[in-house]
Amino acid sequence: MFEQNPIFIPGPTNVPDRLRRAMDRQTVDHRSPQFAEMLPRLKAGVRKVFNTKDAEVLFFPASGTGGWEAAVTNTLSPGDKVLIARYGMFSHRWIDLCERHGLDVQIIECEWGTGAPADKFAEALAADTAHEIKAVLVTHNETATGVRSDIGGVRRAMNSANHPALLFVDCVSSLGSMPFDMDGWGVDIAITGSQKGFMLFTGMCIVAISDKALAAREAAKLPRTFLSFDDMINANAGGGYPYTPPIQLMFGLEESLKMLDEEGLENVYARHYRLAEGVRRAVDAWGLKLCAKSPELYSDSVSAIYVPEGFDSNALCAHALEKYDVSFGVGLGKMNGLAFRIGHLGALTDVTVLSGLATIEMAMADLDYPITLGSGVAAAQQFYRTTAGASLAKAA
Ligand SMILES: *Cc1c(COP(=O)(O)O)cnc(C)c1O
Repeated sequence: MFEQNPIFIPGPTNVPDRLRRAMDRQTVDHRSPQFAEMLPRLKAGVRKVFNTKDAEVLFFPASGTGGWEAAVTNTLSPGDKVLIARYGMFSHRWIDLCERHGLDVQIIECEWGTGAPADKFAEALAADTAHEIKAVLVTHNETATGVRSDIGGVRRAMNSANHPALLFVDCVSSLGSMPFDMDGWGVDIAITGSQKGFMLFTGMCIVAISDKALAAREAAKLPRTFLSFDDMINANAGGGYPYTPPIQLMFGLEESLKMLDEEGLENVYARHYRLAEGVRRAVDAWGLKLCAKSPELYSDSVSAIYVPEGFDSNALCAHALEKYDVSFGVGLGKMNGLAFRIGHLGALTDVTVLSGLATIEMAMADLDYPITLGSGVAAAQQFYRTTAGASLAKAA
């Protein structure tokens, strides 16, 4: 096992040396002034990435899934109705979580490869004249299919129906790699994790909460203890924590925010677009198809790619790992066996992405895929060398 190979799964992502060093720190007392001083700096830095002026930002020791649970349990009561569309494994899991919490989940079934259907949301909300729907839940970037949804469109659908429901957005695999506009889109709770766009180890979920969502706490009857907004806000107010914080991850986050700031968020997004577009050119050159149905849905952080009929994407990923020591994402849920995924988010450059394309190409050739060796790499090379883009390497 050669540990320096990058991974091409869509999270956890590659951890740059700079961030590994930042997390390699002796324990600091979380009741010390040092911790109390760091907390507001982190919140302010994270607000910039969420694009919000003054949403509350909380850090829980959990993965992204904990953020889903925090959003739901702090604002809703058993039996409350929520509206959500299912178009991939992550939206599916959030639905499952809501059902297990005893919520009344109104599901809009969508074809996988499509995104949040603003028109169907508008219809469902307009039909809900009694305003029984308390929250609309949307996965911004469906990591299973490589589809980015139009959150602004969902907000417009809610406004057109004049509906007061809260808007919760999972931006776990989009924040810090694609533009996000919490205030502009009127998002009430936005959820991410440490291990994707922030390029850190797994173990901290980051939740941004609007005043409207904070106000919903009072009536919300679902039980919450570990993920309680109240407990966290009260403790944070005094510079503290309701339990032991993931302090090394917080040191990492401080450095990650510096990296994003040095590169500039606009440049970070431009780099992700460029890397993703190179991957898409490669897919096209191979004669393969993306799961995402149309260009406006293309994700800049992950591409899900159908293998040709008669081939097994699990075997492809297993072969790439076994022979070349490189991980690619397997197909999840309905996509299992049918598609593989190339994660292209986080600490990646032209050079690293090209190595991934070259590797998966070799793996496909080994397994007699009807592709021309070098075709995808050449298409990506041609795109990268003729387009200028900010580079993470230059920024760091
Ligand atoms: C990774 C991911 C999550 C969270 O997964 P965890 O493993 O709990 O961190 C949630 N939603 C999306 C879209 C994701 O990509």
